[in-house]
Amino acid sequence: MKISIVGAGYVGLATGVGFASMGNSVICVDSDGAKVEKLKQGVLPIYEPMLGEHLQKVLEKGYFKATTNLSSAVRDSDIIFICVGTPSKPDGTIDLNFIEQASKDIGDALKDSGNQPVVVVKSTVVPGATEGVVVPIIERHSGKKAGADFGVCMNPEFLREGNALSDFFNPDRVVIGELDQRSGDVLERLYHDFKCPILRTSIKTAEMIKYASNAFLATKISFINEIGNICKRLGIDVYEVAKGIGLDKRISPYFLNAGIGFGGSCFPKDVRALIAIAKKIGYEPKLLESVINLNETQPLRLLELLKKHMPDVRGKKIGVLGLTFKPETDDIREAPSIKIVRELLKQGAVVKAYDPKAMDGFKKIFPKVKYCSAEEVLESDAVLILTEWDEFKKLDYLGKIVIDGRKIDEAKSARVYEGVCW
Ligand code: NAD
Repeated sequence: MKISIVGAGYVGLATGVGFASMGNSVICVDSDGAKVEKLKQGVLPIYEPMLGEHLQKVLEKGYFKATTNLSSAVRDSDIIFICVGTPSKPDGTIDLNFIEQASKDIGDALKDSGNQPVVVVKSTVVPGATEGVVVPIIERHSGKKAGADFGVCMNPEFLREGNALSDFFNPDRVVIGELDQRSGDVLERLYHDFKCPILRTSIKTAEMIKYASNAFLATKISFINEIGNICKRLGIDVYEVAKGIGLDKRISPYFLNAGIGFGGSCFPKDVRALIAIAKKIGYEPKLLESVINLNETQPLRLLELLKKHMPDVRGKKIGVLGLTFKPETDDIREAPSIKIVRELLKQGAVVKAYDPKAMDGFKKIFPKVKYCSAEEVLESDAVLILTEWDEFKKLDYLGKIVIDGRKIDEAKSARVYEGVCW
């Protein structure tokens, strides 16, 4: 099939490279010219395991192209995926600016085209946005009718950064929210070779499935962090407790890693957007608000523990190991490290930091931090572990003060060792 992808970020690239690897002809469009130039040369603009190797293969085979010219890319497509960002506004509501712009551009491009593609929203959008925002804009700009002249689906993405391509090839399920049966049939044909359940729903239901999934996972993390905070006071290792409860099939062992809270580009913004939409329609989502509130304060618990061993950090060298919200990505969006480093600097500490993939990105927010090797970070007065990168297991923590937010057991050899929830 001929596929175009609007937005070549984590989701757009994994989707584009994934479908191209399956023999489809893919054009990725991005408004960021520098990103597109890199892609054309086979260079991945983000860090994501396996994706770079696959990108080079599909480029060589001619199955993958990148461009800034949306109009030429979408004109001949059977399927157009919208994969642009949907960030939070300061009040927590979803910012649909990128979605609106992409919809306008797609509408303009379809105006003089005889093609009848299916437009698929893959970006995470609040229930009602595909039919209430995307469809009317495309109709207005193309002069064409959804369901007659072009198809519409909402196909939420569940991939995890750090595992994006492997999640693309092996999803737990594919959800197809369809405007009409033809649109759903076309998209289902694209997913024909996937060995997982395919769930066909209304568009609004598909949009809600994505929010409910992320809200549930965020809740599970805040839940185990709360149990961990109680365990810490009782002298119990929450990881043993998690093992014990995770053996219950109704609970499952996943997402029970207590620590300094969730971050990234999805959980915080998606839970906030769900809270905002619930309030807008007159419902007070108390559970979801608690999930966010607990997550706001969880990173700072590490600093409370540091205080036990170092009452005043002013002028002290505090080392930070790990800046990304999780390992195997370069993404620092809403990472707990941001809150922790900001607070340390505010209290007058000298911060030294190391991360295998995210130091360039972090430098843009915190130019005053001293970026160095992991070994140099260990030479600080105290060390905080903020991401569970594998390489941190091999460091020599002997004689150090370590406050661990991510359960690196090897760090227990430190002179002083404190785990945030254990
Ligand atoms: P991203 O910010 O990494 O990428 C978005 C890309 O879209 C950027 O490269 C930007 O330049 C481009 N763009 C913006 N407007 C454009 C336009 N009008 N035309 C062409 N390109 C445009 O975003 P992401 O992390 O890939 O997330 C995309 C969507 O998928 C979001 O809604 C997000 O919530 C959702 N999602 C993300 C993940 C994840 O792990 N990152 C997982 C599931 C779902």
